[in-house]
Amino acid sequence: ERVEEGGGLILGGPPIGNLADASDRLRSALATADLIAVEDTRKLRTLASGLGVRTRGRIIVNHDHNEAERSETIVQAVQDGQRVLLLSDAGMPAISDPGYVAAAAVAEADLPVTVVPGPSAALTALALSGLPTGRFTFEGFLARKGSERTRRLASLAAEERTMIFYESPHRTAATLADFVQTFGADRRGTVSRELTKLHEEVRRGTLAELAEWAESERVRGEIVIIVEGAQAPETPEAQDVVQLVLDRVAGGERPKSACAGGC
Ligand code: SAM
Repeated sequence: ERVEEGGGLILGGPPIGNLADASDRLRSALATADLIAVEDTRKLRTLASGLGVRTRGRIIVNHDHNEAERSETIVQAVQDGQRVLLLSDAGMPAISDPGYVAAAAVAEADLPVTVVPGPSAALTALALSGLPTGRFTFEGFLARKGSERTRRLASLAAEERTMIFYESPHRTAATLADFVQTFGADRRGTVSRELTKLHEEVRRGTLAELAEWAESERVRGEIVIIVEGAQAPETPEAQDVVQLVLDRVAGGERPKSACAGGC
């Protein structure tokens, strides 16, 4: 039996700013859930009334600090055959938001869990960035300061995949300045603001240009920063190596020594 018809946990992703991005499946999950776990009950009321949906489920508050305890309630409810909808304030649950602990607990108990996907700011910004999308890494929010931040940045210096960061507007300038130090002034990046909302904006440039812009401007709104990956170090093509060995042998070297370090 599908979770949406029977009991189970549904991870639901509300829009990241534009209500029109809400899916019919999200509406139906809101209307039919027996239990709704949210970060903020006011946000749930705004969402439901904006979508013209009447919820009938019991509402519980689930946030980073009580997620372990709440997940016990959620597992119990699913065990009792209830349909539980877990929502973030905006965007996909479990992505820099509560949801992971409950999803893991329900899966661990071998109970049904499914998803009603919505937009995530990370992928929305990546798609818009115009930077390579084939391989990427999601970094979420960096630690604000201290050794955790320094270590994480150092570990990313040679990262070849496109990197996605969340940042608050008032920390954007400082973070871009750190990015210039870590990745170099010429690395390309984007700063996406207020995605899907009225003032959506994507700023593209080198990290130095973006840092200068953020320094001179009072950055506002919700922000995703994307940074291009490092260039892969140049490795000689196999055929170049073969040619090198042939040249050495032709020059009188023994094949074994001509191969040394290369074959
Ligand atoms: N779970 C959400 C998701 O999947 O997008 C992310 C939640 S996280 C607590 C909030 C951060 O996501 C914001 O500080 C910002 O970095 C980013 N964000 C969310 N909505 C955004 C939007 N409309 N435009 C740009 N960034 C957004």
